[in-house]
Amino acid sequence: MIDLSPMRSVRVDPAALRATVGGGATWADVDHETQAHGLATTGGLVSTTGVAGFTLGGGIGWTMREFGLACDNLVAADVVTSDGRLVHASETDNPDLLWGLRGGGGNFGIVTQFELDLHPLGPAVYAGPIFYPADTAGDLLRTFRDWAGDAPDEITALVNLTTAPPLPVLPEEWHGKKVAAFVAVCSGSPERGEELVRAFREVAEPIADLLGPMPYQMMQSLLDPLWPKGIHAYFKATNLARLDDELVERLCAIHLAALGPQCEIHIHQMGGRSHASRTARRRSRSARCRSCSTRSRRGATPPPAERTRSGRVRRSRQRPMPRPAARTSTSSATPARRGRRTVRRRTPGSCR
Ligand SMILES: Cc1cc2nc3c(=O)[nH]c(=O)nc-3n(C[C@H](O)[C@H](O)[C@H](O)COP(=O)(O)OP(=O)(O)OC[C@H]3O[C@@H](n4cnc5c(N)ncnc54)[C@H](O)[C@@H]3O)c2cc1C
Repeated sequence: MIDLSPMRSVRVDPAALRATVGGGATWADVDHETQAHGLATTGGLVSTTGVAGFTLGGGIGWTMREFGLACDNLVAADVVTSDGRLVHASETDNPDLLWGLRGGGGNFGIVTQFELDLHPLGPAVYAGPIFYPADTAGDLLRTFRDWAGDAPDEITALVNLTTAPPLPVLPEEWHGKKVAAFVAVCSGSPERGEELVRAFREVAEPIADLLGPMPYQMMQSLLDPLWPKGIHAYFKATNLARLDDELVERLCAIHLAALGPQCEIHIHQMGGRSHASRTARRRSRSARCRSCSTRSRRGATPPPAERTRSGRVRRSRQRPMPRPAARTSTSSATPARRGRRTVRRRTPGSCR
């Protein structure tokens, strides 16, 4: 294993709107340097995630509908290839390699340095979660579905069917109970943000409404305490071309039947610039939403494992997830895998 974690330098050129980022940097490193200039690029929902694997795998984050996926913002990279050469990839030098790096994962060599596009953002955004009781999750998902189609690119949101964490911002009687959360980030003014999320203030009586103006950097690390090192997360994801009433009911039922607080289902709003295509990452243009589900934490009982015919371990689910009507894709199909459906097993600690 090659450990790049000491290579965490981040240099910002505010005039060129570019950041040069070391191959071992995390999104916390990038946000810290770029926000000092009122700039940002699409990073992870959890700030301890590495820039490298995230960007090379696609990278969905709070600004993806406005700025594109993380891999869309990759403009150049220094790569050590498998034959030991250090090469530069950009639109003019080795453009095919750059294409492959934009979503092709770690298959093309070791990236020692990334050059990323930056965009003006912050320091404040209109952001945060609204928590609702689980029995209103169906109404929330239907509102989310109807709202998402027309929402402008300046807002990115998701619904999380989860369990209330024991945080002081939530009433104690809800701790450990099944809840649904709407979480959004809007780059516009507080007034604009308020206007854009109005429908969610009418959907049901919230348990806690924490959506409002906050520093972008705070939003970027808001979820960090829920994702400490070593939680052994296991995620599966698929694109959803529709979120009809039948699927809404199934998602709600799966949520209520989920084994423990370690299990959750995220329904991500896609669209906007996250559908632009200059990358190797396979994506479904018809996908309005993306569903990402299930994690297990250290100490929690993971779902039973079964062996597939190829000998790989597969987690069994109580009921199969409904198949979307149109195309599905896994999160990071490489160019070599294009054209066939891939099922990717993730190691503990990785996700999506
Ligand atoms: C808590 C948590 C939250 C997450 N949130 C999101 C999210 O919001 N959005 C999202 O899109 N994804 C998310 N992910 C998934 C994340 O994008 C992947 O796990 C990604 O691989 C993490 O990048 P890393 O550099 O930390 O990966 P590592 O675990 O270090 O590496 C994973 C793989 O990436 C490749 N790789 C890593 N570094 C390099 C390099 N320098 N050069 C070449 N290949 C390299 C290698 O194939 C390596 O095996 C999350 C993951 C976690 C654990």
